[in-house]
Order: sequence, then structure tokens, then C-alpha cells
Amino acid sequence: MIESINPATLEVIGKVDETPVEKIDEIFKNSRVAQKKWAKIPLKERARRVVKVNEVISTQFDEISLIISQEVGKPPNEAFVSEVYGVADSTFNYYTNVIDILGGEEQIPLGFYESLDKRSFIERKPIGVICVIGPYNYPFTIPFQQIVQSLMAGNSVVFKPSSETVLTGKRIQEILDEIDLPENLVQTVYGSGSKVGNPLIDNADKVIFTGSTATGKRIMQRGANTLTEVDLELGGKSAMIVFPDANIERAVLAARWGCFTNAGQVCASVKRLYLHEKIYDAFIDKLVESTKKLKQDIPTKPNVDVGAMINEEQLNWVEKMVKTGIEEGATVLIGGRRNPDLKGYFYEPTIMIAKNNEMRVVQEEIFGPVLVVLKFKDDKEVIEMVNDNQYGLTSSVWTDDIEFGKKIAEEIDTGSVMVNEVVYTFALAPTPWGGTKNSGIGRTHGKLGFYEVSRPLHINIDEYKEPDLWWMPYDKDYDEIIENFKNIASSLVVKDKYE
Ligand code: NAD
Repeated sequence: MIESINPATLEVIGKVDETPVEKIDEIFKNSRVAQKKWAKIPLKERARRVVKVNEVISTQFDEISLIISQEVGKPPNEAFVSEVYGVADSTFNYYTNVIDILGGEEQIPLGFYESLDKRSFIERKPIGVICVIGPYNYPFTIPFQQIVQSLMAGNSVVFKPSSETVLTGKRIQEILDEIDLPENLVQTVYGSGSKVGNPLIDNADKVIFTGSTATGKRIMQRGANTLTEVDLELGGKSAMIVFPDANIERAVLAARWGCFTNAGQVCASVKRLYLHEKIYDAFIDKLVESTKKLKQDIPTKPNVDVGAMINEEQLNWVEKMVKTGIEEGATVLIGGRRNPDLKGYFYEPTIMIAKNNEMRVVQEEIFGPVLVVLKFKDDKEVIEMVNDNQYGLTSSVWTDDIEFGKKIAEEIDTGSVMVNEVVYTFALAPTPWGGTKNSGIGRTHGKLGFYEVSRPLHINIDEYKEPDLWWMPYDKDYDEIIENFKNIASSLVVKDKYE
């Protein structure tokens, strides 16, 4: 039995039965049967059926938001806008585009070989059984979108939610059970990664994993045994760079929301704030003042901005990292402690001035409501500081000069760079999502996301009626043919091809 605990009140809010490890092989066997049936259904019909999830979700907006809120510790309205709305919007407005992206044949020009009546094209096929392993911080929108995209592409799914958010995981399964899908097309496995992780990886054709970098590396290592493909969406340490010409009022509010939404437990949260020296003092004053106004409390109470963290372990880690920061010379401007008035896992919104870019609090992911602030003088310095980090998920550049912002964006080594926005591009289903360096491998969402859940089948058609020129026998005629080939090859040295 896995208990779900409300991290704000510490009450047990529900339970699910753990999936016995010995049942996992059978789950995959059934999944393969379902996948074969599903893949035979035309793309358009698959899309028509999957998009029905929105009808189910739309009857339970408040209920789902409340489950997420109680399980993760975030305000229900935040859960709605960042999770429930995200699933409905992406399913309806983007994932149904599967027909344009995966349907049809992509013709490939073959040059010389076309003169021999040969042609090639690519069709996209399902991969098979995809195992979606989800994190606790966005337990609805992250796995649900990955499941929808996988199904649209003709795969079956075995889904493992985080053990912290089993009730949200169960609700995803229940929603999918209400629409017309083959039996066992989506199945949920409940259990800790250490128990069920290996059999899931061993059985799956592909794992789409979202979680910490350490776990992601373990999954990739295990996947090597069976050459199970992996898509890894891992940790982050997103930087926000503010230049003097930026809209400071908006940037202050963006930094505040970008760091403290979901109590800072966001892979893409603003975790490092780089301020130009000309606006440094004024920006910090405004940010601290506006952070003081945030209301932290049990998130189901009215108008709460910042809720709880997920568990004692994560809270202890945040405490430890802030302490380490102070020992290394950081100055805490606000927060820097557990909230003494609340018995759940609450850590106060915290802003720290870092001494330098090398400190652990600047380099490592804290994954809590802690913002570290640094000063910079010029573009070159800030680009170096931002890129000097093991993570590369997202970043943002703040300036009124869009061309300049774009130029800086091109120098930053992260999967996405926003100019004058923070965090939110996960919500843009048409755009690719994923990171560089220790932030992961592969891309979910967008066209590239559809490519992650499908494989290219290259078909070559030959309508040439004669034997091919390069076939045996290697006789005298063949010598002549080879001479002709040499002539052709010589003509391929075109110096001005790119001029
Ligand atoms: P986690 O790595 O602890 O757990 C993620 C999932 O992996 C859980 O379902 C867990 O049960 C499972 N798991 C653990 N060990 C496993 C194993 N050996 N085999 C298979 N599965 C295993 O991560 P978390 O604490 O749930 O999430 C927080 C982390 O996720 C942060 O680092 C955050 O930055 C990252 N994250 C990244 C993204 C992204 O899109 N890049 C999004 C959300 C969260």
C-alpha cells in the first residue's frame, strides 16, 4: 500500500495498492497486444478518440486541481492553470496535429539514383510500448502530455507516477479509462523506482523519464543492457539575466513568480538571477519588497501564493543548501528558514546574494523556494557565468532591445531561451522541450516530441527494369562503367556550390 500525504497538513489523503513486481512482465505482454490493435487504427481515428480526454477533464476541473493541490502542496488555482489547462490546451490545439506531422510520406531526393528509377521516402511508425515515468512536481501535466503524444503516435503506454503523487497518477488512469481505447492500452504501475524501475526499463521499447539527473543517469545505464531508448527530461538551474533597459517592473514580478511558483519545485524555475550592475540595487529592493507580500499558507485556503514542499527530505535538502550558502559567504535578504508558523513542509520564500558564481548554491539544483542573485558588468561576463553550469534547461534574457536579446540568447547553452519571459514555455506544446548537458537528452513536445515517440521507416522503391550498373559480373564492361562513375565523381567537385 502506498499512502499519499498532504505535505501542507501532513494528513494521509488516500492510498493505492502497490503493483507487485512479478506482475510487470504480464503488464507489458498485455500492453503489446493492445498496441498492435491500436496501431492498426488510422491516425485520424486515433486522434478523434484520444482528444475525448478533454470532455472527461472538463467535467472535473476543480476536483483534479484539488487532488494535485493536496498531493503536491500548491494552490488549486495554480494547479489548474499550470497543469489541468495545459493538458486540455495541448491535447486539443496541438496533439491532434499528429496527422500532419506523422501521417503521409516524406519524399527524399536521391540525385543521380533517381535516373535509375529509384525513389525513397520515410513513414513514421509507432515505437511500441512506451514507459512514461513521472516526477512529483507537475504530476498531471507532464506525464499526461507525454501519454497523449505517445498514444496519438500509435504506441501503448505503461505509466509510473511518482510515489509521492499516486492519487494524481490514478486519476490520469481513470480519465483515460473513460475514453474508447483498446483494453490495456494505458496501464499504471505504482511503486518506488528502486522496486519497479528495472523491470519497467527492461521491458519497455522506450522510456520517457522526467525527474532528477541522478535517476536519469541510472535509467540510461540500465537501458544500455537492452538498448532501451531513453528520453531524459532532468534537472535545471535556470538563469534570468536582466539588462538595464529591461522593463524592470515586469521583470521583478517575473523573477518572483518564476522562483516561487510551486514553492520553487520547478525544473525551469528561475534559480539564478543575474542583474546588471546599473540596476542591481534598485532591482533587489523591489524584489525583496514584493516577496514580502507573498502569502504562504495551507494552499487550499483562499489567496495563498506559496504552498508547501513535497516532503521532509526535500525540505531538509533546501535547509542544508541554504546553510551551505551562508557558510560559503552568501547573504540572506529574506526567508532562509522553515516557516515556523506552519506544521507542514513549508520553507519561506528566500533570496540570497551569492558571493561568486562558483558557490554550490549557484551551481547545484536546490529545488525549493530559493533564489540566488549575482551582479554582472557586461555581456561577455554574464554569458560566461550563465554557461558555467552543469545544467542547460531554460534561461531568460530581459531587455527592451529584442535584436540584442536574440543575440544574447544565441550564446546561451540551454534547450530554450526566453526573451522577456520566464518558465512558461513548457506550456507551449508546439515548441520542443528539453535540455542540454545534465538537463537531459531528447525533446518532448512539438514536432521533435512526436519524433521521439515514433521511428522512421525508410522505404526504397525501385522501378528500374535492367540489372543495376554496379552488380556482377566485374568484367570488361564493368571496367568501362567504373570509368564512367569516375567521370561522374570528378564532376561532383563543384567549388561554388555554396556561393
Ligand atoms: P526523481 O528522480 O526522484 O523521481 C522521478 C521518478 O523516477 C519517480 O517516479 C521515481 O519513483 C522514479 N524513479 C526513481 N528511481 C528510479 C529508478 N531507479 N528507475 C526508474 N524510476 C525511478 O525526481 P523527482 O524528485 O520526482 O522530481 C524532481 C526532479 O525532476 C528535479 O531535479 C527536477 O528538475 C526534475 N524535473 C525535470 C523536468 C524537465 O522537464 N526537465 C520536469 C520536472 C521535474
